Amino acid sequence: MTLPIYELFAVRYATRAARRAANFLGGDPHEAAMPMDYFVWAARSPERTIVIDTGFTRETAVRRKRDYLRDPVEGLAALGIDSASIRDVVITHLHYDHVGGFRSFPNAQFHVQDDEMRFSTGRHMCHARFNHGYDVADVEAMIRLAFSGRVTFHKGEAQLAPGISLHHIGGHTAGLQCVRVHTRRGWVVVASDTSHYYEHFETGRCFPTVFDVGATIEGYDTLHTLAESPAHVVPGHDPLVMKRYPAARDNLGDVAVRLDVAPEEALERSP
Ligand SMILES: [Zn+2]
Repeated sequence: MTLPIYELFAVRYATRAARRAANFLGGDPHEAAMPMDYFVWAARSPERTIVIDTGFTRETAVRRKRDYLRDPVEGLAALGIDSASIRDVVITHLHYDHVGGFRSFPNAQFHVQDDEMRFSTGRHMCHARFNHGYDVADVEAMIRLAFSGRVTFHKGEAQLAPGISLHHIGGHTAGLQCVRVHTRRGWVVVASDTSHYYEHFETGRCFPTVFDVGATIEGYDTLHTLAESPAHVVPGHDPLVMKRYPAARDNLGDVAVRLDVAPEEALERSP
């Protein structure tokens, strides 16, 4: 059986200023800017389109002081993807910036790891150290969606569709998962927050918001195993993603890029 080939996109919807020292556990000796971008992702074949994460809302951007560039569904719409028609949304973890836009997907089934629901509703949420990345309203909403049958729980590894699989990594949160997608350049891994930036998995360092450092570091090995090459790993928050990959369409250079095209190809095209 031949696997379907998916187009794969990253849609950038928000950004914020940050310093290098704030992006590494234990800090960083270099005093330099290291901004953070926010993305959702989409995989599309002739048979189906799967969205990975939902972003957050404009209200949340104001409350958390993020620079909101667009509603993620507007970015998806620019790619011809209608969020109301989406049947499957992978939620890599329940942090506000990954799940907060769930209302834009009224017909979707949400795919979540058992460990993530357990973690975000359990004892560790008593501590600001672990709860600050979650909005309790999102967690409550996911419980309600589970009661109405709209959450599919996964334990570890799962095949969502031919050519798309979910992989529990943990680390940053207990139930964090990444997504492996079969594309025309081979297996690409949407790492989400298993590696916020390229530098994290490239240098074996860790983002400061972390539940289990060991799982984070071991997770980098899993990313390497799942992906065709290191150039097939797409980090969750790195502005370099927008620089390394080509625009999804001519006028979308600042909105969406194609991840199913090798990043070298994109670099060769730039002056
Ligand atoms: Zn996160």
